[in-house]
Amino acid sequence: MQKIIGGVAAFALLVGLSGVAAAQEEKFITIGTGGQTGVYYVVGQSICGLVNRGQAQHGVRCTAPSTGGSIANLNAMREGAMEMGVVQSDWQYHAYNGTSQFEEAGPFEDLRAVFSVHPEPFNVIARADSGIETFEDLRGKRVNVGNPGSGQRATMDVVMEAMGWSIDDFALASELQSAEQAGALGDNNVDAIIFTVGHPNGSIQEATTTTDAKLISVDTDEIKALVEDRPYYAWATVPGGMYRGTDEDVTTFGVLATFVAPASVDDDVIYAVVSAVFENFDRFKGLHPAFDVLNEEDMITNGISAPLHEGAARYYRERGWIE
Ligand code: GLU
Repeated sequence: MQKIIGGVAAFALLVGLSGVAAAQEEKFITIGTGGQTGVYYVVGQSICGLVNRGQAQHGVRCTAPSTGGSIANLNAMREGAMEMGVVQSDWQYHAYNGTSQFEEAGPFEDLRAVFSVHPEPFNVIARADSGIETFEDLRGKRVNVGNPGSGQRATMDVVMEAMGWSIDDFALASELQSAEQAGALGDNNVDAIIFTVGHPNGSIQEATTTTDAKLISVDTDEIKALVEDRPYYAWATVPGGMYRGTDEDVTTFGVLATFVAPASVDDDVIYAVVSAVFENFDRFKGLHPAFDVLNEEDMITNGISAPLHEGAARYYRERGWIE
């Protein structure tokens, strides 16, 4: 009797110990993305796919659920609910500095940049029958200004302020998620939608093929002043012919998608994630056409307003990309 109990106890001890060992080796990380029809979701899924292939070596296991977008991701990282996130470069800047939307929350001093990804123009897509020809024509129309928590909504708030508009200047200002807005445009529930996203984009393709709609240039004097004043905005051109109904080049401003993490996330984890991307860079670039333009040098310099995460910096130093 005594012996059996001893045996059971020893067995339990062994199971307990191996459980502890496994828990120490496996590190789970969550990457905040955006709506399922956006490019952030593809960024997160692609990075996790590459990371998880190397799990046996580094023990990092990665998931990348759909989220509300940049602001939601930054808030989740600040609360410690997510380890990494894709965020617009303008909101990386504001979160780190505690400006604009983040004035009340104060500077997110622990925020670190990992690398930047694809360019994201501020896109306005209007129904052909809406009478919207210029960006100013948006006033008085039914517009999806975006869900709170998304980067494009936060940037739209900045744009509205610059234009001297408020939500009340629209006949309707809906707050649909990015994945819902192409449908709303097609159903004639709104005249225009706004999506700060990389090209080519599936939901803009959907919006412009299921209904007669076109991209509108966003280059008013107010926008010119914004681009001149702010380091994180740049002019962007959406080439004519990319979407049905838009044959001419469209001029707008844009930001970069960036990949960030709090400094408190283990350097080894970030090192494993960064190596997974840059050791398989051609494969990564092949996962979405918006990644075609990417190159290593731009990714570790452009759109970076927070200091580099130490785990990323270690990898870049080893490659000789930084001092
Ligand atoms: N730029 C958008 C945001 O920050 C997301 C774009 C995407 O989902 O690709 O919310």
